Parts: sequence; structure tokens; C-alpha cells
Amino acid sequence: MEKAKSKSAAASKKGASKKPKKRGIRKRLARSAYSQDEVGEIFRRFSVQRPEPKGELEHINAYTLLVAVLLSAQATDAGVNKATRALFAAADTPQKMLGLGEDRVREHIRTIGLYRNKAKNVILLSRVLIEEHGGAVPADRDALVKLPGVGRKTANVVLNMAFGQPTMAVDTHIFRIANRMGLAPGKTVNDVEQNLLRVIPEPYLLHGHHWLILHGRYVCKARKPDCQACVVADICKSKEKSCDIPAALVPLD
Ligand code: SF4
Repeated sequence: MEKAKSKSAAASKKGASKKPKKRGIRKRLARSAYSQDEVGEIFRRFSVQRPEPKGELEHINAYTLLVAVLLSAQATDAGVNKATRALFAAADTPQKMLGLGEDRVREHIRTIGLYRNKAKNVILLSRVLIEEHGGAVPADRDALVKLPGVGRKTANVVLNMAFGQPTMAVDTHIFRIANRMGLAPGKTVNDVEQNLLRVIPEPYLLHGHHWLILHGRYVCKARKPDCQACVVADICKSKEKSCDIPAALVPLD
């Protein structure tokens, strides 16, 4: 006991010479490889290419968007759309989804990975929405992440697309290109999210995550970036880039 006491006294003496740990201090984020002007120019070009970028998940309202995003975990958007067309025609509200029941939801989505678990979550989530939110999707991240099967990324997508909030839903494409380009480096999805929110100029924040996803999906691809087709090839500082000449900056369909 005495030993423990003297140990702790020594520890607190030792600790006294150190700076006290400040609580609530934000983690230091890695620096972007780009100046503010360069980041602004990158996003200006993305905005010229796709003035109104849209997500590729089909949906009818905030509820069906939430369900579609939940179903898209470890699945392609095209695969989810194939299954949800009939599902949403049968049920586009939490009430109708409960009426449909878990077995029929499972049948509709059986082509999607993890469909058993996802069907369960769709039903649970619909029940919670009815019981706790009057059948509406809450426009609030804390409330969204409490819903069954809903994580931070899903919540960010819904807040952005359904409620116009400037959130950054970091998926595999965004995580890769934020690090590959050195735009907003980070070891975790959360670090990249915070870093992107910090470096992207405010006017570009609303559509930022869509531009990055589409850039990652179609140009700065995982295996081999298609630098010849890249509109920011002259600005990019990635060691992996293979071309310095930017592609023509024209609006895409
Ligand atoms: S130049 Fe290449 S590596 Fe850089 S952002 Fe474009 S596609 Fe990606």
C-alpha cells in the first residue's frame, strides 16, 4: 500500500514537470500538399466538369435514400439500384416497409451482399423511425447514427444529399485520392474527413464529396490512375501520376 502511495506520489511529481494534458484538443491533422489557391483551382475545375454532381444511388425521398445507402455497404451502386427499383415501388415509407415485412424485403434484396442482415436492419430502422421520429428521417447526425445499421458515412451521405448539409462522406475512393494526391492525408477515415472539411474552400464543400467520389471512380482509379483523362494533372503532386498535361476542361453529361 505504502509502496503504491509513494509510486503514485513520484508519478504525480514527475507529471508536475510535464505540461498538463489539455482536454478536448483536436488531433493534429497532416498538412495538405497544396496551397489554398491550388485546392481552390482543383475544385473549380471539378465544378466546371460537373456543375451539379449527383450520387448514383436511385431514391425517391430521404427515407429511400437512407435505405439505399444502408444497402450499398460492400455492394455496387448499380447492384443496389437493380434491387431497390422494385423494393421502393412496393415501399417508399417506413410504414409501407413494415407492412411489407422482413421476408419480402429479404426477397427483394437477395442479390445484394449481406442481404439477410441488411433486411433485418431495414425493418428495425423503419420501426425506430416510426416510434421515435414520427416516420421522418432526422436531419441530425447524432440521431442518424443511432439508427440500426447506420454509421457515420451513411449519415453523412444522407445529411448531404437529402438535407443539403456540407458533410464529407469518406468512402474508399475519397480515402484513396485524398492520400494519393496528398490533398488531405490521413491514416483513418475520420482524419481524412476532418482534413477535407478543413482544406476544401467553403463554396465547394456541399458537392465536394461527390466530385471526389466521381474523380476516384472514373479517373483517379485504384489500380492505375488515368492521368491522361485528369483535369488537374498539372496541379497534382502525386508520385503516381504519369502525365503533367491536364485533360480538356469541358462539362460532362
Ligand atoms: S494526375 Fe493522376 S494521380 Fe493525380 S489526381 Fe489526376 S489521375 Fe490522380
